[in-house]
Amino acid sequence: MRSYSIALIPGDGIGIDVIKEGKKVLDTLCSLDGGIKMDYRTFDWGCEYYLKTGRMMSETGLDELKDVDSIYLGAVGYPGVPDHVSLWGLLLPIRRKFEQYINLRPVKLLRGIQSPLAGRTAEHLDFTVIRENNEGEYSSIGGRMYEGTEMDLAIQSAVFTKHGVERVLRYAYSMANKIGKPKRLTAATKSNGINHTMPFWDEYVRKINLEYPEVETEITHIDALAAFFVTKPDVFDVVVASNLFGDILTDLGAAIVGGMGIAPSANINPDRKFPSMFEPVHGSAPDIAGKGIANPTAAIWCAGMMLEHLGEHALANILMEALQQVLEEGRMVTPDLGGTATTVQFGEEVCGKIKRLG
Ligand code: ATP
Ligand code: MG
Repeated sequence: MRSYSIALIPGDGIGIDVIKEGKKVLDTLCSLDGGIKMDYRTFDWGCEYYLKTGRMMSETGLDELKDVDSIYLGAVGYPGVPDHVSLWGLLLPIRRKFEQYINLRPVKLLRGIQSPLAGRTAEHLDFTVIRENNEGEYSSIGGRMYEGTEMDLAIQSAVFTKHGVERVLRYAYSMANKIGKPKRLTAATKSNGINHTMPFWDEYVRKINLEYPEVETEITHIDALAAFFVTKPDVFDVVVASNLFGDILTDLGAAIVGGMGIAPSANINPDRKFPSMFEPVHGSAPDIAGKGIANPTAAIWCAGMMLEHLGEHALANILMEALQQVLEEGRMVTPDLGGTATTVQFGEEVCGKIKRLG
């Protein structure tokens, strides 16, 4: 039996509810014949932990995580705790220390989900956005000067390195090379306005393209690209973008395939030197926390992405099939999808389908 060690970080708010259902789904898959075994370690890190200890995660947290096979995270955030505390105290250290330089977000319309784009179905909406996750615009290099005077100003630098740009582009090209006919890659840029880092980025797109000559490449300005996500999403297969542009594009991507309750994400260390981390795009949603009505679809889909990453493709397929059957039937879906089911009922319905499929 294959066995994996999984770090569970449910975090705050609805993160706790949705991870519970995701784990239930994984447990059900593990119980199928010829299944796998998961060894879980649960960490109570997050904003509650911060309010008690002054830290988002334990001092030795990164060390405690470094040998697990995957990290499964709910959400962190709490009213009264500034976003930058949760970001810089937990998410960014994990993403950076473990060189999770790929942020992978499928923009795929699941069966049973209605896109807000009129007339768009699953056949039009099926691509992947790869966001550079370790450098770029989110550098924290910069500062504020002359505050309180007429000369008040702020400066922030973006950092693009050969190493960082080449590795994300190679990952994107290698994905585009495997899927799609024709093989297509779209790279986001803004080299008309940002005249140092973006021409640098474009130059490396053209360079790595030489390694993958079969992949048709479009370098598209971010403003136009955002519009195309809405007006012609069917032209995309793989979209690759810098940290900031990817951040914005992936929220747009989430919106066109059904919104916050649906969208999953994976922070991948492709070299497998360190664990990768799987987390829903949504946050802790304090407005619905504790009500038991959060949609666990995103978290369950993340569990599927985790299984894919672990090489458990057959089980990932069963999970995705079960999830889509529940969404398609629409009897046991949460209020955000127009239903009346609770988070727990939705999770149990998915588990029931898995048992029938397995
Ligand atoms: P955080 O500060 O942790 O990011 P947030 O207030 O920004 O939390 P998000 O989780 O990012 O909240 O989502 C915004 C809104 O979308 C929520 O307030 C909630 O109403 C809705 N939402 C998010 N996730 C879900 C979900 N899984 N199920 C149902 N509704 C959701
Ligand atoms: Mg948020």
